[in-house]
Amino acid sequence: MKKGRVFSGARPTGQQHIGNYLGAIQNYVALQDDYECIYCIVDIHALTTLEDTHLLQANIREMALDWLAAGIDPQRSIMFVQSHVPEIAELFTYMGMTTPMGWLTRVPTFKEKVRMHPDNVNYGLLGYPVLMASDIILYKADTVPVGEDQLPHLELTREIVRRFNSIFGEVFPEPKAKLTEIPLIVGLDGSAKMSKSMDNQIDLAVSDEETLKRVKTAFTDPTRVRKNDPGHPDKCNVYTLHGAFTTSVFPEKFMAIAHDCKQAQIGCVDCKKLLGESINEFLRPFRERRAKLAENPGVLDEILADGAKRASAIAKETLREVKEKMGLL
Ligand code: ATP
Ligand code: MG
Repeated sequence: MKKGRVFSGARPTGQQHIGNYLGAIQNYVALQDDYECIYCIVDIHALTTLEDTHLLQANIREMALDWLAAGIDPQRSIMFVQSHVPEIAELFTYMGMTTPMGWLTRVPTFKEKVRMHPDNVNYGLLGYPVLMASDIILYKADTVPVGEDQLPHLELTREIVRRFNSIFGEVFPEPKAKLTEIPLIVGLDGSAKMSKSMDNQIDLAVSDEETLKRVKTAFTDPTRVRKNDPGHPDKCNVYTLHGAFTTSVFPEKFMAIAHDCKQAQIGCVDCKKLLGESINEFLRPFRERRAKLAENPGVLDEILADGAKRASAIAKETLREVKEKMGLL
């Protein structure tokens, strides 16, 4: 007997990075034991900001490879591409009828995107949270593994659900977020979030050399100017990442880092080199599995087609119920 239903999605705007992995994918994999899991590559969401879509199909495949190599098991879980189940567009339209406009114009990420791209403020961008809510509730999911950055959106999903249920009766569960132990990874440039659209990330599938090169650029404890200054590991993102990677691959080395940093016995350059080596060691089995999977593109297509078929069966049932409640049937 499963504990409930999980849904989560990610935008195919690039490869998955260690922030995605630590904040979300780790849970995608772990939850498969106890939940019925549905993982979606949300290509329609990508269209809200992507001006050039020629990379979309390639990105979808890269994301599917990342997820499979990380341990999503297509036998147990449904993995599919959002636009392959067109019922989402229909539910999105219905949910738009009960979601007040003011809730959407207030969303901080909407305001930020308007500031950053004033020439591309489209209706889809405003409706993003309605589409996200529709994704989750089309499958009546109750649990949503996401990074901390998504909590405000999930709260809005809950409000959208409550409003719909209060008008038309209890149709959807109010989904809850499920966070990992490290729910927010800071960007290599020190900005608040590692993000593929900010180019401040370490992708999972890059080479060992590229990983070492990227880690070298990581922002560290700003109060440590010279090598002899004592460091503050609790304020350093590199130390947080040691806690995620070094602790499992080189546990004895991890034990020494905090002490050596505080005593200025290890400099930031060496500390980052060790982190790069840990990430490479940690991701070695992932990278090997991914390379093998990439040799057989036909299998990937089959997995995504099978996922869409299974997702569509659930989606159709939910839609029938929604239409009945709304008086459309
Ligand atoms: P984009 O810049 O295109 O929005 P992204 O890097 O934010 O990309 P998403 O595809 O939006 O990645 O997010 C996929 C999942 O990974 C979401 O659940 C999100 O909360 C989580 N996630 C993204 N970035 C981080 C991060 N820095 N730390 C923890 N979790 C993250
Ligand atoms: Mg994002």
